[in-house]
Amino acid sequence: MIKNLTKEEWVKIGQEMIAERHRKIMVAKTRKFDTIATHGLYDYEESLRNNNGSIMEPIYMSPAQAYHNSAEMEAGLAYEMPNWCYSRIANPSTYFLEETTALLESYGSDIEASCLATGSGMAAVRVATDPFLVKDDTLPPPNFVACAKVYGGTFQQFWVRRWKEQGIEVRWIQNPFDMHEWEEKTDSGTRFLFGEFPSNPSVAIFDIEKVAALAHSNRIPCIVDSTCASPALTRPLLHGADIVIQSASKVIGASGTSIAGLLTSRKNIPSKVGEEAMKADFATWAKFWPFRDNGPALSPMNAIMILNDLRSLRMRLAQMSNTALKVATFLENHPKIDRVHYPGLRSFEAHEIARNYMKLADTDQNMFGYMMAVEIREDSPLESKNSRVFYDALQMFWRATDLGRVKSVATLNAISTHQQQGEEGRKIADIKPNTCRLSVGIEDPADIINDLEQALDKI
Ligand SMILES: *Cc1c(COP(=O)(O)O)cnc(C)c1O
Repeated sequence: MIKNLTKEEWVKIGQEMIAERHRKIMVAKTRKFDTIATHGLYDYEESLRNNNGSIMEPIYMSPAQAYHNSAEMEAGLAYEMPNWCYSRIANPSTYFLEETTALLESYGSDIEASCLATGSGMAAVRVATDPFLVKDDTLPPPNFVACAKVYGGTFQQFWVRRWKEQGIEVRWIQNPFDMHEWEEKTDSGTRFLFGEFPSNPSVAIFDIEKVAALAHSNRIPCIVDSTCASPALTRPLLHGADIVIQSASKVIGASGTSIAGLLTSRKNIPSKVGEEAMKADFATWAKFWPFRDNGPALSPMNAIMILNDLRSLRMRLAQMSNTALKVATFLENHPKIDRVHYPGLRSFEAHEIARNYMKLADTDQNMFGYMMAVEIREDSPLESKNSRVFYDALQMFWRATDLGRVKSVATLNAISTHQQQGEEGRKIADIKPNTCRLSVGIEDPADIINDLEQALDKI
């Protein structure tokens, strides 16, 4: 049973395994979005040869792989053959999630993408940005340019951890669809450009192609967090982005069983720093080196729970987007609402950009996602009295700092997700005391609107 092969023989087996994976990727690439999401690379061969005929991807809780002999161990630990040496680095369950994600993020193109699953979305942001901020005495001091309208955790990571603690300057973009601002703030010290598409919670968007072109003309990567669109609506890699981040804790893992992050990169990305292997295949390189050393691995259990939700991503996005448009239209016409930010509304300032980038996969139909930011009418600006009355009266919407869920959730951002960044930080990010983020679930639209209506009646 135990194969006593030489290292060269193991490496050769490894090469055959890589070629076989490549063939499977090519087969998967001929399929449609929903089919890829459902099956990924898990086929008859995987099932019958490696997994006792299991039709679902098994959850491998084992922390490490056993080797036939020392030669296989040596080849595996030199990364000369695919292997599951240790679950912090690679795990078969996590592998199926990563491969499916890479296929979905590159869907509709011949882009070859690689994916790395992380323990959270914040870990993915960190792993995606760290390698570009390394010290290099031949270059000016590093800075990076990022949209100020970002998730509160990302704001804190950039503002506190990077700038205040490490002295790496973040240059905030206040108006992300103004290309002049991006151009003015990008200089020879800039290491990457970063934006959310759309942003959490204010659903701000930017022209991905233009920002990517600006990055590339400066020989730096464009990094996009598209958690709030997901690959079912927007695939930034197809528009020139180099690295895409998903907090899979959100709509990808919509049933709400796990925290997880996904980082997907194209091959051969530009960068002024870093070794060639990093630029050639960023996600794989990150997995083998800094991610391994820093340790923000995803549990295999969570990987499979996320994968189970990922299979139905597209149909969920379709239903949630249709409902969200109805909800946004209802609220926009309600006398107790000042403003609704939703990319699907004609009144949305970047509606045309949204129409270019947000389409349900495998259709020509524009769909704009599940999230909106609503400003409740107050007696005077900077108040939140009515907003709190409305918020506290919600009966079905969960009051929580969550989104992308199958269940509708409402969040008062100034006192929750964006509390810690302080008044100055909220001003930069345009979070007002009366901003309420709504994440629309898969309930019937009439019940969602009823709950909002009865809560607004309490004001
Ligand atoms: C939630 C979120 C994150 C962080 O993800 P976690 O999985 O909660 O760590 C990053 N970006 C966006 C846009 C998010 O909404």
